[in-house]
Amino acid sequence: MNKKINVIEAIREVVGPAGWIDDDDGKEPYLKESRGLFRGDCAAVVRPASTAETAEVVRLCAKARIPITPQGGNTGHVGGGVPNGGIILCTGRMNRIRAIDPLNHTMTVEAGCILANLQKAASDADCLFPLSMASEGSCQIGGNLSSNAGGIAVLRYGNTRELVMGVEVVLPDGRIWDGLRGLRKDNTGYDLKHLFVGAEGTLGIITAAVLKLFPLPRARETALAAAPDLDSILELFKRVRDRAGDTLTGFEMMPRIGVEFALRHMPGVIDPFAEAHAHYALIELTSPRPDDPLRATLETVLAEALETGFVDDAVVATSETQCDQLWRIRESIPEAQKHEGASIKNDISVPISRIAEFMARARELVEHEIPGVRLCAFGHVGDGNIHFNLTQPLDAEREEFVAKWQPINRKVNALLAELGGSISAEHGIGRLKMDQLAEFRSDVELDVMQRIKRALDPDNVMNPGKLFKS
Ligand SMILES: Cc1cc2nc3c(=O)[nH]c(=O)nc-3n(C[C@H](O)[C@H](O)[C@H](O)COP(=O)(O)OP(=O)(O)OC[C@H]3O[C@@H](n4cnc5c(N)ncnc54)[C@H](O)[C@@H]3O)c2cc1C
Repeated sequence: MNKKINVIEAIREVVGPAGWIDDDDGKEPYLKESRGLFRGDCAAVVRPASTAETAEVVRLCAKARIPITPQGGNTGHVGGGVPNGGIILCTGRMNRIRAIDPLNHTMTVEAGCILANLQKAASDADCLFPLSMASEGSCQIGGNLSSNAGGIAVLRYGNTRELVMGVEVVLPDGRIWDGLRGLRKDNTGYDLKHLFVGAEGTLGIITAAVLKLFPLPRARETALAAAPDLDSILELFKRVRDRAGDTLTGFEMMPRIGVEFALRHMPGVIDPFAEAHAHYALIELTSPRPDDPLRATLETVLAEALETGFVDDAVVATSETQCDQLWRIRESIPEAQKHEGASIKNDISVPISRIAEFMARARELVEHEIPGVRLCAFGHVGDGNIHFNLTQPLDAEREEFVAKWQPINRKVNALLAELGGSISAEHGIGRLKMDQLAEFRSDVELDVMQRIKRALDPDNVMNPGKLFKS
């Protein structure tokens, strides 16, 4: 025990007062997950200012077997950054952009950089860093990498994994691996960076990364289409994709109930249509060519769709303000849902060709299990990713409804397994989905994952109790 106290003192000396929080009020915001589902405790929140300090802190913890919970912006949804004792190692002070190389189209950044700041820095250099999500004002790139975050431009640019070319990592024994390569081609054995992307902090602490940049979009067109059913939305997606190619940057689906929630609770949300419709598709095309005929492409597809009858109405934004207004509807849904009571959330994916079957069968299932449940399933339909969220029935007790989270999800998961889907499209496993991982990964796969964990972190100091139980 005394030895541990001495180590905690030694860690405090490494980071100094600016990197040390151990009073209850100061620690409080770091101890719980963004949705309030999990809460933990820790001896201190440690905020190193550099990779060298991080390595020294990890080395001290490894020696004394003190658990480390890495934390970025703490916006994760699955409890991955919630501590189980030990220390929280927060990357927020490592927030320098080390270099921007416009010719190589790369940016070398530290883990604690806020995502929105990286987007801005790229844009100031006349480039695009395309990762984008509603939490971009608070989440950090280290957290994005560790959760392999998705967001609203995956369709065109891929998940965070596709956006990284190199990483710098402090390993669980305190050694620094400098893998900050900016190479588009490098076939020299195992590509280790991918071990750390999506590892949720269980294999080491990402301290910096080389990110890919892209040409800045010079043309943007946004449309909202209203459709009678989900099959029509999917048919529209296929047609837009075929016509627009990789100028199709976003294709988001919203059900009427989600739009109603947004209209009811969120200021500034406007329904552009005179009538209510069952489903909506928010479509965005972008291009680096200012004269790209994106508008003509969109209008042609939408006109054909209106004629054929699988779109009932459509609006193409005529100004940036209108674009933002259309996006505001979609982005308001998660927040609006909170005003309607408790939610049971599922962040699922299936092959796009199975979305309609999943939605029909899953709806029947949840409505049978929870009569009166209000299904608000929306999201990145172009990525096969649906936020399959259940809002409590109007007359239900909150606690009674939330108690159904695990039983209902087990049933939804069984359906996902049958359809070749995933229980976590974007948010990871963390603590929330640990029990379910075994149903979606084979024994061979789980064994390989655990061997990797043991090889890198034999004493299980790095984010214990996340991803795997042991
Ligand atoms: C309003 C809102 C909207 C969101 N929208 C999306 C969305 O569209 N798509 C999406 O994918 N997610 C979304 N999220 C979830 C969340 O923002 C992302 O998962 C984000 O990538 C987490 O980043 P963070 O810095 O907050 O990480 P944290 O929450 O701090 O950590 C996440 C995980 O990564 C680990 N970790 C953090 N930093 C490091 C590091 N440097 N090295 C090693 N491990 C580390 C933590 O231990 C934890 O397991 C949303 C969240 C909110 C609140």
